[in-house]
Amino acid sequence: MFDKILVANRGEIALRVIRAAREMGIQTVAVHSTADADSMHVRMADESVCIGPPPSTDSYLSIPSIIAACEISGAQAIHPGYGFLSENANFVQIVEDHGLTFIGPTAEHIRVMGDKISAKDTMKKLGVPCVPGSEGGVHNLDEAKRIGEEIGYPVIIKATAGGGGKGMKVANSAAEMERAFQTARAEGKVNFGNDEVYIEKYLGTPRHIEIQVFGDGKGRAVHLGERDCSLQRRHQKVFEEAPGPTITEEARAKIGKTCADAIAAINYIGAGTIEFLYENDEFYFIEMNTRLQVEHPVTEAIFGVDLVREQIRVAEGLPMSFTQDDLKINGHAIEVRITAEKLPEFSPRPGKITQFHAPGGLGVRMDSALYDGYSIPPYYDSLIGKLIVHGPDRPAALARLGRALGELIIDGVDTTVPLFHALLQEPDIQSGDYNIHWLEKWLETNLRG
Ligand code: ADP
Repeated sequence: MFDKILVANRGEIALRVIRAAREMGIQTVAVHSTADADSMHVRMADESVCIGPPPSTDSYLSIPSIIAACEISGAQAIHPGYGFLSENANFVQIVEDHGLTFIGPTAEHIRVMGDKISAKDTMKKLGVPCVPGSEGGVHNLDEAKRIGEEIGYPVIIKATAGGGGKGMKVANSAAEMERAFQTARAEGKVNFGNDEVYIEKYLGTPRHIEIQVFGDGKGRAVHLGERDCSLQRRHQKVFEEAPGPTITEEARAKIGKTCADAIAAINYIGAGTIEFLYENDEFYFIEMNTRLQVEHPVTEAIFGVDLVREQIRVAEGLPMSFTQDDLKINGHAIEVRITAEKLPEFSPRPGKITQFHAPGGLGVRMDSALYDGYSIPPYYDSLIGKLIVHGPDRPAALARLGRALGELIIDGVDTTVPLFHALLQEPDIQSGDYNIHWLEKWLETNLRG
């Protein structure tokens, strides 16, 4: 059993991990850059270690500093949160080489799933349905054009190392292929140091449905249903809900079992998410994330489980505390991601919070590292809070979201809260009738200029 764990992250997710650890009687060590000395995760942890200057490459991404912080503090395990080093196989290897435990999957699982081509190949072999596309990488324009003709336009060219919506370009016809192909390659090279790309059929109006899976590393695995994360801006999620408004119990059971069986077969350990596009009642695998997701709280709400606690348990070698039969859906949950950005252009707005009041009451959870007088530093992601609501059904959850947003006060910086107030007025949001393009179109007509 762990006595002390180090949280290699910042912001709301660092608090999330500290909270779970504290309830388990485990001490926590926060790490922070000089820009985050006054941040909430530092205040809330039992101990803290400064690991470098503001740029994340010199602090939150500095492997030697994080390992040194473990050695100084005597932490036995590291929880990476999401982002930063959470999906860095090299980091996991180094953690293990130092006799420490990484709270997450193995380096090998991260490596296989981090490369989108090998991830797709692995999933296909495990019986998971995939988007039609190239077999592996596409190395030159002629090959790209031939595949475009074969699978039919439009197609999407994706960097195999891509993530966060970067390194993806759509080609609607052969004429657009050259530009899309070269841009996707260049973005892959610049952002991820890898210019390999592959090609997929571009689906017209799918929903983004992802399955939460969890494994014990010993061949046992479960699924915790789906999340619908179709409301996206620039391929980034802003509003997530569970269960998915269009997913039937039968469809959930079938795709859930396929996913759980797949990760059981590879002895996967910890939390993972298998992402799909969903169109005309068919699921098409796009990628697997080998970490806790930002939107995990909606799943926790409807299943009544603590996923971080489970991550820590299986990392300690304990069994999962639930079986598939124990996991029953209760009600409906929605999360909105609140960022410090100015609408309509979503430009980052770091600055000082003059007043912060979190909403409360039945079925409301606010995961945020804000406090009165806190200064949001300009160096990191603009996510400043996640508001999660849970109700007996979808209409109740929507009503609760409106109520909770009304109570929330964040003064001093611009935020995306007004966007959510406006979205709640939309009949399509009320009825759940949206797909991955809905939000971009809505923003164009409603927030332009
Ligand atoms: P990333 O790793 O950058 O998040 P993903 O492969 O998960 O990339 O895709 C992110 C989003 O891009 C999806 O949720 C979807 O909106 C869009 N997308 C990806 N692949 C396709 C496809 N084949 N057809 C249509 N849209 C796609």
